[in-house]
Amino acid sequence: MSSLQQTDPEIFSAIQHERVRQHDGLELIASENYTSAAVLEAAGTVLTNKYAEGYPGKRYYGGCEHVDVIEDLARQRACRLFGAEHANVQPHAGSPANMAVYFTVLKPGDTFLALNLAHGGHLTHGMHLNFSGQLYHAVHYGVRESDHRIDFDQVASLAREHKPKLIVTGASAYPREIDHAKFADIAREVGALFVVDMAHYAGLVAGGIHNNPVPVADFVTSTSHKTLRGPRSGFVLCKKQHAAGLDKTVFPGLQGGPLEHIIAAKAVCFLEASQPSFKVYAKQIVANAKALAETLMSGGIKLASGGTDNHLMLCDVTTIGLTGSIAEKSLDRAGITVNKNMIPFDQRKPLDPSGIRIGTPALTTRGMKEAEMLRVGAWILQVLRAPEDAAVTERVRGEIREFCKNFPVPGIG
Ligand SMILES: *Cc1c(COP(=O)(O)O)cnc(C)c1O
Repeated sequence: MSSLQQTDPEIFSAIQHERVRQHDGLELIASENYTSAAVLEAAGTVLTNKYAEGYPGKRYYGGCEHVDVIEDLARQRACRLFGAEHANVQPHAGSPANMAVYFTVLKPGDTFLALNLAHGGHLTHGMHLNFSGQLYHAVHYGVRESDHRIDFDQVASLAREHKPKLIVTGASAYPREIDHAKFADIAREVGALFVVDMAHYAGLVAGGIHNNPVPVADFVTSTSHKTLRGPRSGFVLCKKQHAAGLDKTVFPGLQGGPLEHIIAAKAVCFLEASQPSFKVYAKQIVANAKALAETLMSGGIKLASGGTDNHLMLCDVTTIGLTGSIAEKSLDRAGITVNKNMIPFDQRKPLDPSGIRIGTPALTTRGMKEAEMLRVGAWILQVLRAPEDAAVTERVRGEIREFCKNFPVPGIG
């Protein structure tokens, strides 16, 4: 019996059930992934016992000689992986990473320009209920109605009109590669700083599939748990001249003690993402997304922008007579996990939008390839064509459970 099982059977049991859920279903949430066993191991260590306010070599606590080694390795590996001049690996997640950059360069009331949430942006890009929308004047660009690609004419004209202090790009639900250099040109023209939030596609950048924002951006923020496949956390990369300001904002400006067990797990993730095998992984994520997109489109589902060139797709399920909420629930019952999502120019509301968002990072980690995506796509179509049919749901669920036995989850087996 494990010590957790003995001490707290309720929590132990819920974790066991979650392990089974993660193993027996098809995980298609675009922002999720399965970390390696090595990352899991680092995250669950005695490092959680250690206070280490400050930075390596400049701590406010004794006994930091070993966590200093760890945090230094994490910073060096992040810089090497992305070609950055400076890294801060202490932000607890992606949102505080963005907060750290805003607090470093903006004052309350300042204007910044970012992608509209309803067109694929993130809460921290100026949504009215988020700190970023409450503290600052957020102006939003969107995608074109004709092809659902970022409207650079609008970006340029809004930038000239509002003279933002910051231009932000990066997205949570944008199925295409982002042209960072084009944004950098506009930022330079209007004298704005340029921030790229690569939370979703950091793994594709690390794998050389997506263009790297680091050379053209003043700051790059990211999560480490999405395509990058590390622990649930965040980090910031920046140019040398912003390093001291950023570090001061993260600590003591925003956070207290860093999570050194998670920083250790991030260091492991940066090491793994620098291996040749990670390039193969990143390439397969995109190949799988394209294969799944083709299957769904041939089944009558319309995709925003007509397809994908990254790890995700946005499916308009009203084209087959459903809503995003019905689609999400019926797929869930069959063991397929996705999330409902607004599509650009959606006529419906966020709680029951027209679309679902589907991503391939997690299934690709399990070793699935294009042939498996055809089967996954077929199951999705079968469920969506008969969302209320319990017999179909049960059959698909059983088939998926069998199928999943062939694709081990790292850390679960
Ligand atoms: C996921 C995401 C974040 C926030 O990450 P959390 O770790 O959930 O705080 C920030 N920006 C973008 C674009 C994201 O997709």
